[in-house]
Amino acid sequence: MDPEKSFDKTLHLLKEHHKWTKKTINLIASENIPSPAVREALVSDFGNRYAEGAPKKRLYAGCKYIDEVELLAMDLAKEVYGAAHANVQPISGVLANLATYTAFTESGDTLMCLPITCGGHISMGKKKFGGTAGTVHGLNVEYIPFDEEAMNIDVQKTREKIAEVKPDLLLFGASVFLFPHPIEELADVAKEHGARVAYDGAHVAGLIGGKRFQNPLEEGAEVMDLSTHKTLPGPQHGMVLTAAEDLKQVVDNAIFPGLVSNHHLHAVAGVAISLAECLEFGEEYADQIIKNAKVLGKELYDHGLNVLGSENGFTSSHVILIDVTDHGLGGDFERKLEEANIILNRNLLPWDVREDRHYDNPGGIRIGVSEVTRLGMKEDEMSSIADFIYRIIVEDEDPEKVKKEVVDFSQNYSNVHYSFDSETEAYEYINIHSR
Ligand SMILES: *Cc1c(COP(=O)(O)O)cnc(C)c1O
Repeated sequence: MDPEKSFDKTLHLLKEHHKWTKKTINLIASENIPSPAVREALVSDFGNRYAEGAPKKRLYAGCKYIDEVELLAMDLAKEVYGAAHANVQPISGVLANLATYTAFTESGDTLMCLPITCGGHISMGKKKFGGTAGTVHGLNVEYIPFDEEAMNIDVQKTREKIAEVKPDLLLFGASVFLFPHPIEELADVAKEHGARVAYDGAHVAGLIGGKRFQNPLEEGAEVMDLSTHKTLPGPQHGMVLTAAEDLKQVVDNAIFPGLVSNHHLHAVAGVAISLAECLEFGEEYADQIIKNAKVLGKELYDHGLNVLGSENGFTSSHVILIDVTDHGLGGDFERKLEEANIILNRNLLPWDVREDRHYDNPGGIRIGVSEVTRLGMKEDEMSSIADFIYRIIVEDEDPEKVKKEVVDFSQNYSNVHYSFDSETEAYEYINIHSR
């Protein structure tokens, strides 16, 4: 390898990615675009430092500004989520889940959560699937029964299963999450049978922060963990929150010394910035996300696509899920849509494995509207996006032809909304090296 060529090539590829991103419509439900201020935090010197331990009780010197920022992030998190304690040190949502497992279970204990086919995340997975819960923490995973009609947890069957398997930890939350989970209906039963009750809010953290989705800590969950970069448009990072002060120590110990040494201090600063934005603009942002998702669901449904959850208005979150099997398969459409510069994910449907479809080419596609909403798109733009998708999936139009229109369309949305003003465009490349 030629060192200088490799050096130049890497920088070149980063710039190419930025140029391309400006010409796409990003509908990946787990992604978002942080504000320029968050991106500034990410390139700051905080990213080169260590601050093991809690603020003001560090194992490292040189932390006087870092301490202030981390305390600010913790206070903001407590306010945004109504939590008694916030630990902002997990460096991702998977690590935040692992922190929850570590704090509240031993290896060999039983975790109850949703299977991946019904929206569960790989970090909740069984050992045989290589999931974090089974493989890393040795948990025995039992599934929460799911109602495929309602596309939500089956309350009655879950009550019965809790009584039968007596889980040590009941974990709500998912990666495909159309409707609020029945925490109020199930938390007490779980606690009576000796379980801790937690909620993985990775996907919906921005909607909860914007007070437009259930607040698990008010509905009976003792712990909520989350990613800070999905509907909450922060940097890639994680967090664990507790409803009561007495869970602080066990959570903090699980995270340090348990799971982090450096905890990505640049991202902690980014989290503080995005939580401040959430306090100021979060309600308006969450409102528009949910409106957009419902409109996009309805438009696609009216175009003849099988958008799930139609009985209940398609969604109460940022996500819609479509069964595309009348027209083809999810993996094939994911590729075709990418050729048209529309970026989204294929997704397993609850009945896919039964019908012999698997993750490489499942029956569904998942669409999230957090990023397009962040760019200022509203209901009218959702109609245009529905039309692009319909033309690829139902009309089988040439993706190259649709792409030209997608590129023109995306040029009109180049700034981050719902944040404090900035001159910098959403996908602008931040050039520090300058060559
Ligand atoms: C995305 C996700 C995670 C993991 O988040 P990372 O920040 O990518 O590690 C955990 N749980 C759920 C439900 C998710 O959707």
